[in-house]
Amino acid sequence: MAPRSVRIPSRLPILVVSGGVLLPGSSMRIPVHAPRNMQLVKNHVMKRNSLSSIIIGVATTTSKDPQTEDLAALHEIGTAAVVAQVTGTNWPKPAYTLLVTGLCRFKVVDFVQEMPYPIAHVTQLDKLPGDLTDVSDDELATLLDTFKEKAHVLVDMLDITVPVVAKLKKMLDSLPSQHLPDVFASIVKASYKEKLQVLDAVDLRERFEKTLPLLIRQIEGLRLLQNSKEQGNKKNKKRPDVRIVVKPPGEGGKRSIRIVGDQDDDGEVDEIAELENKIKQANLPAQALKVATRELKRLKKMPAAMPDHAVIRNYLELMAELPWSKSSPYQLDITHAREDLDADHYGLDKLKQRVMEYLAVRQLKNNLRGPILCFVGPPGVGKTSVGRSIAQILGREFHRISLGGVVDSSDIRGHRRTYIGSMPGRVIQGLRTVGTNNPLFLLDEVDKLGRSLQGDPASALLEVLDPEQNAHFTDHYLNVPFDLSQVIFIATANTTATIPPALLDRMEVISVPGYTQEEKHHIATRHLVPKQLKEHGLTGEQLQFSEEGLKTIIGRYTREAGVRTLERRLGAVCRAVAVKVAEGLPKPKQQAAENKEVPSKEEDKSEEVHAAEEDIKVPHVDHPPNLPIVIDDHAVKDILGPPVFEHEVSQRLNQPGVAVGLAWTPMGGEIMFVEATRMDGDGQLTLTGQLGDVMKESAQLAISWLRSNALEYGLVQKSGQDLMENTDVHIHFPAGAIGKDGPSAGVTIVTVLASLFSGHVVRSDTAMTGEITLRGVVLPVGGIKEKVLAAHRAGITRIILPKRNEKDLQDIPSNVRKELTFILADQLCDVLKAAFDDGFPSSKQDRAVSSKL
Ligand code: ADP
Repeated sequence: MAPRSVRIPSRLPILVVSGGVLLPGSSMRIPVHAPRNMQLVKNHVMKRNSLSSIIIGVATTTSKDPQTEDLAALHEIGTAAVVAQVTGTNWPKPAYTLLVTGLCRFKVVDFVQEMPYPIAHVTQLDKLPGDLTDVSDDELATLLDTFKEKAHVLVDMLDITVPVVAKLKKMLDSLPSQHLPDVFASIVKASYKEKLQVLDAVDLRERFEKTLPLLIRQIEGLRLLQNSKEQGNKKNKKRPDVRIVVKPPGEGGKRSIRIVGDQDDDGEVDEIAELENKIKQANLPAQALKVATRELKRLKKMPAAMPDHAVIRNYLELMAELPWSKSSPYQLDITHAREDLDADHYGLDKLKQRVMEYLAVRQLKNNLRGPILCFVGPPGVGKTSVGRSIAQILGREFHRISLGGVVDSSDIRGHRRTYIGSMPGRVIQGLRTVGTNNPLFLLDEVDKLGRSLQGDPASALLEVLDPEQNAHFTDHYLNVPFDLSQVIFIATANTTATIPPALLDRMEVISVPGYTQEEKHHIATRHLVPKQLKEHGLTGEQLQFSEEGLKTIIGRYTREAGVRTLERRLGAVCRAVAVKVAEGLPKPKQQAAENKEVPSKEEDKSEEVHAAEEDIKVPHVDHPPNLPIVIDDHAVKDILGPPVFEHEVSQRLNQPGVAVGLAWTPMGGEIMFVEATRMDGDGQLTLTGQLGDVMKESAQLAISWLRSNALEYGLVQKSGQDLMENTDVHIHFPAGAIGKDGPSAGVTIVTVLASLFSGHVVRSDTAMTGEITLRGVVLPVGGIKEKVLAAHRAGITRIILPKRNEKDLQDIPSNVRKELTFILADQLCDVLKAAFDDGFPSSKQDRAVSSKL
């Protein structure tokens, strides 16, 4: 029904529909597909929090092509409408349906804009509801009476529920008469053209004249049907009932009245009964049951055409599907838990130990209160997969909630049902997916939670995690509490630095620093290779990795803390081999490895001479391939191409002004080449490479220290001479656009500058890390384990570390430690002494420096 008083704006954005006509006083669902309509919805509708007062123009296009941007085909009379509801989703791509209710006719005067969606100057054509002083003209009054009479007849004949009949009758008696034709024209079956004629009938008398025949036609049709039904019943009692059902407006908004047989039955009623049944079985707690029963009652009374119908049904379906009282049975065999963890994961001793303690406490206390475990480490170190194992050990369902980039608290807590496109938050959605109320939720990437004007998702998450509150967690959409106290939460992150402090406070951080080459080797042989073989439908009899082949893949094709790239590379090899196996062709140029086992050409000939001749271009053809195909060094290069990481360090460190620093990033440790160059100038220092402020300060410190000690190191010839005289220095920290900050590059910058000014090359087997002070003292830094592992991966054998980091060396696996030499530096002079090996700095200068410090 149209609102009481409407004065539409003189400029309206125009939503273009094809194949449907919206009449004032009726509602229509309009699926939004065309780009211009999508743009209109985005700009005009989605940006508002509330739908009230959004008025748009709805105009139909007579063009055959609904996507056409040509406005010439637009029908010049349209209907101004309020947007009553928007349903749909933003993800994975926007798809909306608007429910609009027509207010009054308008005529397009001209277009203010055509792109990206049309906006038109319009004139309001209909009188406003409420303005109408009823018909005075006799002729019109007669027409109105006839119309009302026919309308009453029609309403009685329609196969619709009693409340809807009552509602329609009430409308008949109370609606201002100029609205009756529009309302009834939208109820009866009418063609597009007929509806367009009703729309064009601005004059009231004309409108009645156009609509009345439609009513009469419908009544006649229904009578005919009834007659044939009665006769049919007499003839054959068993024939299905033929009835007429008013269906909700479908796509394009056309309301249809169709004839259905019994077997098709009133699907709506069945569905509601089914829903009711489902709710009964879901065993809802008292409060939820009360709400569900109330909503169910509303749903039953509501005609399916009402916009709220679908909303309530979706809500009730969620209610019915949520695992209110369904849980996985208790299962925990602590004695086997360790075995299970070991079977799935190599190494990770500290992590497994802590997980075992956690499980043991769970078994003893039989509740989950306590800190939330948070696994922190670079990507690909097995955080997610340990979470999955824990779920398996506990016999729980596993569900991953990815929090990376979540900026809206409604993502966690849901949108209220009154909002556009509202839906429950990820926690409730997760519960619906797993179907039990005690799953294990892995909160992935808590360090990447964002913040925005839409509220702080971290605080919503706190509510979810807090054992004091989460037994009554209330999602905004669900709007009744759901007990989360049986859910196990485990979080993962790459770094603790960006986890919101309040959240971090709730969690017990367990770091997973990354693997050594040797650990990777074990992980590959025990876990990754079998997994990849299986995934590619191969067996150990068809494909084997040799020791050196694996070593090559690990050392020369990956340089990461975890094993994700390694797994991908193994997958690439498996794919290549799978093709060969499937084709029954020989492995790629893998002569070296196969020569030993390959039968000689003579032996081979008898079997496959034919194939060998055909494939003449491929040397050493033996067909089918000798199995197993062994992946050695050569095969790796054939399949994966030239090594990605090779001799990088020695190549880059062959000239003065370059040194290797060690950095910590959320991806794990990394080696970082620092380069410096000098040119004529006036003492300027230029720094490039996406540096943070702390790093810039380190560079300033380094240059100041070197200037004040230049004479001792022979970098200037006489006292009073400035190192930077007539010189500009440019220091660059390569490695792309990765932001770098922190003080730990201090010693590296000093070394680079000393190398640049002295002309001596830094040792290519050495990397370094350490903060510096103005007086040349070397201070300890963090992330030693990750940095050392990164250096080891890159083939570095000597590492210069701050003396006060000595204690951190015990965390480094002994096999890695064995292969490295550590130089512990207290002062910058120690660093310089260790960094060069060609007589720089000289021992005399050394002494001078030491005595000065
Ligand atoms: P993360 O969550 O830390 O980014 P994932 O759990 O996704 O890493 O691990 C990536 C892949 O590496 C998975 O296939 C996982 O099974 C495997 N993986 C990682 N660490 C180990 C390990 N210690 N033992 C066996 N497989 C591992």
